[in-house]
Amino acid sequence: MHAATLAIKSHPDQRTIVPLGPHLSIGDRAIAVIGGPCTVESLAQMTQIAETFQATPIAALRGGVFKPRSSPYAFQGLGAAGLEILATVRRRYGLPVVTEVMAINQIETLAPQVDMLQIGSRNMQNFDLLKAVGQAPVPVLLKRGLSATIEEFLMAAEYILSHGNPQVVLCERGIRSFDTYTRNVLDLGAVVALKQLTHLPVIVDPSHAAGKRELVPDLARAAIAAGADGLIIECHPQPEESVSDARQALALPTMLELVDSLAPIAQAVGRCLWSPVPAAATSRVAA
Ligand code: PEP
Ligand code: MN
Repeated sequence: MHAATLAIKSHPDQRTIVPLGPHLSIGDRAIAVIGGPCTVESLAQMTQIAETFQATPIAALRGGVFKPRSSPYAFQGLGAAGLEILATVRRRYGLPVVTEVMAINQIETLAPQVDMLQIGSRNMQNFDLLKAVGQAPVPVLLKRGLSATIEEFLMAAEYILSHGNPQVVLCERGIRSFDTYTRNVLDLGAVVALKQLTHLPVIVDPSHAAGKRELVPDLARAAIAAGADGLIIECHPQPEESVSDARQALALPTMLELVDSLAPIAQAVGRCLWSPVPAAATSRVAA
């Protein structure tokens, strides 16, 4: 292994805990589940999702406003209008939000309005972007590149850490292989290896790994059994109508069933599901 000094454990028990909003810590005993659509489409869509997540173990909301699409002709995200929707829902429901940053000049606008910046797979080796989020005052969710080795993944994290941001969460989201039945191959071996190698939290995205919604719940359960610290899962009020990644989006009732099914698995591996802070103790629902 190439010397990745900051990302590598210096002691077997060393671990970094990364906050996502005021009530959730990724890498702690509680499993963090982040849910939401591939793309922020409307205030009604995001409101319905946020209401569904209230008083459940789903701790945070995802949704892209700047979308990295394979085709330049595909919908590229709502941009500033999408960010406004995300910020409104974050404020009203007290739900932390994660969204992808694609360019250095987006950081300044996104940073004050989100709780975590996602670096997508296609940008895992965009070194200038990694250096820039390394200087941002916000935690970073770093997704594994489509065909990145574990060493390359850790060196990408090293860029962020070495530029001053210690709050990095790694995300295994499947890697390219020869079989096209699944969109990617979920590399659970990498999850186990990363948990041994690095002190950073490791979460799993079964949605982009599977590419098919019927595969997502079992892969999510397998990820928790393998020691993942959390999950990021795509879901939508009308999955078939999602503007992007419709084939892998879970319906909201399926998302809730899936999260419930994680509890005994989490317990079996010495973890628990995150549980919401009682409404009376916070200002979760405001404005
Ligand atoms: C996403 O999270 O919607 C996304 C584009 O993910 P990835 O970068 O893993 O493909
Ligand atoms: Mn997606």
